[in-house]
Amino acid sequence: MADDTAILTPRTRDLDGWRELATQLSLPCRAYLGGDWHSAESGRTFTARNPATGEPLTEVAACDTADVDRAVAIARRTFEAGEWRNQPPAERKARMLAWADAITAHADEIALLETLETGKPIGQTTSVDVPGLVGGLRWYAEALDKLYGETAPNGASSVCFIEREPVGVVAAVVPWNYPLIIAGWKLGPALGAGNSVILKPAEQSTLATLRVAALARNAGIPSGALQVITGLGHEAGQALGLHDDVDAIGFTGSTEIGKKFLEYSARSNMKRIGLECGGKSPHIVTRDVDDLDRIAMYVAYGVWYNQGETCHAGTRLIVDRAIKDELLARVRQWADRLQPGDPLDPDTQMGAMIEPEHADKVMGYLQQGRDEGARLLFGGERVRQDSGGVFITPAIFDDVTNDMRIAREEIFGPVLVVIAVDGLDEALEVANDTDYGLGAAIWTQRMSDGHRAARALRAGTVWVNCYDHTSINAPFGGYKQSGQGRDKSLHAFDKYTELKTTWIELDT
Ligand code: NAD
Repeated sequence: MADDTAILTPRTRDLDGWRELATQLSLPCRAYLGGDWHSAESGRTFTARNPATGEPLTEVAACDTADVDRAVAIARRTFEAGEWRNQPPAERKARMLAWADAITAHADEIALLETLETGKPIGQTTSVDVPGLVGGLRWYAEALDKLYGETAPNGASSVCFIEREPVGVVAAVVPWNYPLIIAGWKLGPALGAGNSVILKPAEQSTLATLRVAALARNAGIPSGALQVITGLGHEAGQALGLHDDVDAIGFTGSTEIGKKFLEYSARSNMKRIGLECGGKSPHIVTRDVDDLDRIAMYVAYGVWYNQGETCHAGTRLIVDRAIKDELLARVRQWADRLQPGDPLDPDTQMGAMIEPEHADKVMGYLQQGRDEGARLLFGGERVRQDSGGVFITPAIFDDVTNDMRIAREEIFGPVLVVIAVDGLDEALEVANDTDYGLGAAIWTQRMSDGHRAARALRAGTVWVNCYDHTSINAPFGGYKQSGQGRDKSLHAFDKYTELKTTWIELDT
């Protein structure tokens, strides 16, 4: 998930330093509405826990319909008053850049909050997640005063021009696996375009998001233009989805919940729904390759980075039978190296799974794979149990066929399934035989095979001779049940803007 807009922060602390900082943090725990901290009107809360220890961190406001109504009313008022959308683009840009600077100034604290609530390694939240958020916000801010409208050629007697206008009130509903980066992919274009945005973080990853949002006001972003509603998906998330005064939803999460948002839209005001959902991405290695060491590293990071909790993880290794064993021997060495550790240790590369229920689901798939006749070559064990947290070692299943559940369903854990094939045609057929279409990759020395595969693979992103290389200026999203619409790049503005056609007749 490395983003080349990321600014790599130097290692500022060791394990003791991070532990010490953790004792000094104040933990935000209420929704952020209209510039104020807001407890749920019902008074209810839910517990935020550290997945690496199982310990409670704090109680967070469990907002529901009443709180969502309040947030939407504030958002609408701000939009109608034009406090934000009528600012010149250069002014919105300046304020968003100031906000990005403020986030950078608090980078350690924000990265630590994210590590504490998600179990992601601190070395990654400091070098990838917080810089990814900041880089994304800066990139969209910089774009704002460089986007031009169009004119339609209709002859001498009229002028027809086309402009983009903000859609109105946008709800961004995001998951826990990259909470800050993905929030940035929504906020950059949605807020930048002049909308009033209500951000709904996943209940597992609320704290860092609240800290980030509360920095926006001092940067000059009106308090009604960016709010954070905390709460459970089926309460706060559903209330946003069904609200008649929300104009658009930018959703990232599971395919199951993405489909619910389509229903919410149909049952309410036909709000626009952008969906970034699940994946089961194929990673093809042909026999025409010459650097198996390098490929093994990409296979390993492609599937195990972020504990395997990555939407576009390369979970299906589709490898030519002629080189399979040689490649797997090397991938296994990476599995050995990527053993879970304390997320607060800067040397840790593999952190905790998000929560015990999710770890149980992953362990269930590991059992399912064995029951289906796949061969567990390595890993798939619960470790560090005395920490109180939930950790699973990187796992490799060999002898998998593409009809097994472990090859078809999104496991969202550190589990690589290996499918042997004979030749490129079979590889492409297996790769496309999936309900998903988020990412896909192919390694080959034959340029024509690389091109052929790039055209044939039904996925939003195809990597040739790499995996997960990315930039904020490259669109990201899925074919099939991986979603609709695109995050990142200028195309993301499509989700959050209306096209306005103005026709002026000159000969009247
Ligand atoms: P999830 O679908 O459970 O939750 C996502 C968001 O939806 C959260 O904010 C949650 O609170 C909310 N939600 C849950 N139930 C809801 C309901 N009934 N009504 C309204 N809102 C509800 O997903 P998750 O477990 O947080 O994240 C993991 C999933 O996200 C995986 O499937 C992964 O592939 C996907 N994902 C996709 C992308 C992408 O860009 N395509 C990126 C990251 C994650």
